[in-house]
Amino acid sequence: MKRREFNQLMLASAAGAAGWLRTIELGASEFRQSARSYTVNPARLRANLEALAQIGRDPQGGVTRVAWTRADIDGRRFVRDTLMPAARLDVRVDAAGSIIGRREGKEKLPVILFGSHIDTVPQGGIFDGALGSLAAIEILHTLAERGIVTRHPLECVIWSNEEGAHYGRGLFGSRAVVGEFEPGELDEKDEQGVHIRDAVGGIGGDLSRIKEALRKPGEIAAYLELHIEQGGVLDAADVSIGVVEGIVGIVRYQVTVTGQANHAGTTPMPDRHDALVAASQLVIAVREETVRGPGRQVGTVGKLSVHPDVPNIIPGQVELVIELRDLSMETIEGIHKRIEARAAQISAASGTRITLIPTSSHQPALSTPWVRDVIAQEAKAAGLKTLSMPSGAGHDAQMVARVAPMGMIFVPSIGGISHSPRESTRWEDAADGCEVLCRAILAIDERR
Ligand SMILES: [Zn+2]
Repeated sequence: MKRREFNQLMLASAAGAAGWLRTIELGASEFRQSARSYTVNPARLRANLEALAQIGRDPQGGVTRVAWTRADIDGRRFVRDTLMPAARLDVRVDAAGSIIGRREGKEKLPVILFGSHIDTVPQGGIFDGALGSLAAIEILHTLAERGIVTRHPLECVIWSNEEGAHYGRGLFGSRAVVGEFEPGELDEKDEQGVHIRDAVGGIGGDLSRIKEALRKPGEIAAYLELHIEQGGVLDAADVSIGVVEGIVGIVRYQVTVTGQANHAGTTPMPDRHDALVAASQLVIAVREETVRGPGRQVGTVGKLSVHPDVPNIIPGQVELVIELRDLSMETIEGIHKRIEARAAQISAASGTRITLIPTSSHQPALSTPWVRDVIAQEAKAAGLKTLSMPSGAGHDAQMVARVAPMGMIFVPSIGGISHSPRESTRWEDAADGCEVLCRAILAIDERR
């Protein structure tokens, strides 16, 4: 049985106990070979992930630990007061509320930093962020148990408000590291009227000292993050370790198509300037121009509004948003130019006016080649297959990359599902990801 079929069976039969038994029977001999031997403790990693999953468990399904809410505070307390002390770490909370657990090294060297986040979207999965966070603690726990002291000091970090499901903007803790905030962001209130200062204060942060969260280039020897892929590439390819090439840049354009609203019964077809027909052609053009040429770039029209949006009126105006993502800004710019040319053709042929205005542009963050190589080598040494791939989703690593060498490790998401109660990753893959992260940290520590 192919792995994908197995996964489909898993998903299809997850509800019934009989089905569950059957998948184990069918699947047991089909499992991909895991790491040959583990340095870390996969059973403890799993137990800790399952314990954290109970905090903020949503009666509607999945887990809801939205940043800076009660459940997030409880989850962070579990990490800070139970897991990190058990791993014998010196624990502190920075001004942005990120939790940092430190283990000293033998030499006076910059820190090797690694971690992720434990806040979730509403009804999220139990692995998104949590895996990288608890794997980081597991590694330090293992080193403490085995009495291994590295040359560099090691720090695991649990970032603050990665998802942005609260106060609208994510990557809060990692943006504090590079001092990147939107104007007025540190003076905002949420829907309940709670000032951001008090929300961050609730997890032990202090916005009046926010500058103390900054890290200078040279302070961090390398930053590593393990995360679930949140897409289906690794699962489909039956590969357990993704070596992330970088986090894609994202550019958005606001598009207005202006035609002429008119009576839907009395206006003959040749005389129409239908803004929605032109917009539809443009939506198809976005897809065609995105897939023209090689690469893994993506282009989406996910938001569209029709005016006046009435059944018996020919649409006079359509507003839509085009979003393009890729690791290369040149590729994005090339697609943008071709879409503009297509828009001009559509406009001329349909008697409408089409304007494209760039509204936001986030640069790609490439991972550091030598860190990528270390991850790939250590995965291979552990007997695991790897695949180089971009990250289509944003991560704290993209911020830290501005001040430190950066690398990310992905493990498969079953069926590519994420930000959903159905999000899942096989425990073997979670353990393999933790193992590769551990080996990569030790390899970076020995690097001269
Ligand atoms: Zn995440």
